[in-house]
Amino acid sequence: MPVWNEKYETMKRDELEQVQLERLQQTLNRVYRRVSYYQNLFNKISFDPDTISTLGDLKKIPYTSKDTLRLAYPYDMFAVPLREVVRMQSTSGTTGQPLIVGYTKNDIEHWTELTARVLYAGGVTKDDIIQICFPYGLFTGGIGFHYGAEKIGASVIPGSEADMENQIIIMRDYRTTAFACAPTYAAQLFEVMNEKGITPAELSLSKGLFGAEPWNESFRKEIEEKLSISVTDNYGLTEIIGPGVSFECDHKNGLHISEDHFIPEIIDPDTGSVLGPGEKGELVLTTITKEAYPLIRYRTGDLTCLYYEPCTCGRTLIKMGKIFERIDDMIILNGQNMFPSQFEQILTEAIGTAPKFQLVIDKKETLDELEIQVEISGDFFFDEMKKLAELEITIIKEVKERLDFIPKVKLVEPRTIKRGMKKAKVIDKRYK
Ligand code: ADP
Ligand code: ZN
Repeated sequence: MPVWNEKYETMKRDELEQVQLERLQQTLNRVYRRVSYYQNLFNKISFDPDTISTLGDLKKIPYTSKDTLRLAYPYDMFAVPLREVVRMQSTSGTTGQPLIVGYTKNDIEHWTELTARVLYAGGVTKDDIIQICFPYGLFTGGIGFHYGAEKIGASVIPGSEADMENQIIIMRDYRTTAFACAPTYAAQLFEVMNEKGITPAELSLSKGLFGAEPWNESFRKEIEEKLSISVTDNYGLTEIIGPGVSFECDHKNGLHISEDHFIPEIIDPDTGSVLGPGEKGELVLTTITKEAYPLIRYRTGDLTCLYYEPCTCGRTLIKMGKIFERIDDMIILNGQNMFPSQFEQILTEAIGTAPKFQLVIDKKETLDELEIQVEISGDFFFDEMKKLAELEITIIKEVKERLDFIPKVKLVEPRTIKRGMKKAKVIDKRYK
């Protein structure tokens, strides 16, 4: 069972909580002294950071929202002068105006340690040749993993945004053994491999490290089988640090959170009340080692749950469930709430593999309309029309039964739906 940092990843819970408390005290003091938003907030609720004596005291502080960070754009949430900042990165702007985050030298060291944990847990060692197929640039994925992989001592190929065909040629010729990317990107790589007639046997791949967007077990199974590799999930977000917040071990049933750097909570997104173990809600994170951009009780917008049962990998760090949806992804159609992941589930069951799809929403007079556009593989298209018509009916029936809404379904040929770095699953034309 590969564990990168035995001391912190397998620390006894009571010792870990003591570490968390000390780091939390320091962080609260830091933000109180250096970030005017937190200073005003603590004064307003008469919270004295010096009085904090248990981890439970954290609950006295209100949540920090993404809107607060947007208002503070560009530098008002920074807790150090810019001369101590050695790196800037930015969110990708999936949910609005991008934010700038900063890192001190120590922050970069911690981030490196955290991505090393992710990669090592996914099986990457110094004997690996790892191709990082996340963009290098303001987005945290590329450079974040790069540092961690170098720290492990692997041979790193900064593949970044090389075009697909080149990426595969590099993979084959450099004998890449591991690759890190978004699952959508992996699916595209696989499609291009097929188109170019490059077989998995020509590659030396043995592991994939996927993150940055939701993906499901059937996709994991498909890619693991087709490429004969082992694939693990990892999660992170720019505001908190980038990749490196949580990662799967080889049990692949939940993502261990690096709790010596982040304190997780799950809350009811509507009422804000803190939920118990196993209850699904919004993930809230407090950073306890960040110097340049510390955040207290930050609402991530991501929906998951926390599991406290010990893991047989030996890590004592708790796990969070795989993230399938974020609050902003929720679609409301004629008053019914639903998530893209529910459509993904229905389509996967109906078709047999995880399809590429998009949801196009519009309004006709007062009623919402939804068209599900689904890519169907070439083989399917050669089959009789009857089979395609049956598939459409099955999808409509399942959506009606499970989500109480009657959609239209449009089956389209492979690669018709625009590809991007992230899954743009919903096109909402109602408010345009
Ligand atoms: P933006 O919010 O602008 O997309 P980031 O590029 O930092 O900013 O993306 C972070 C978000 O990506 C997370 O809040 C989460 O919604 C999503 N994400 C990251 N990793 C995963 C993962 N492994 N599974 C599901 N969603 C993920
Ligand atoms: Zn584990």
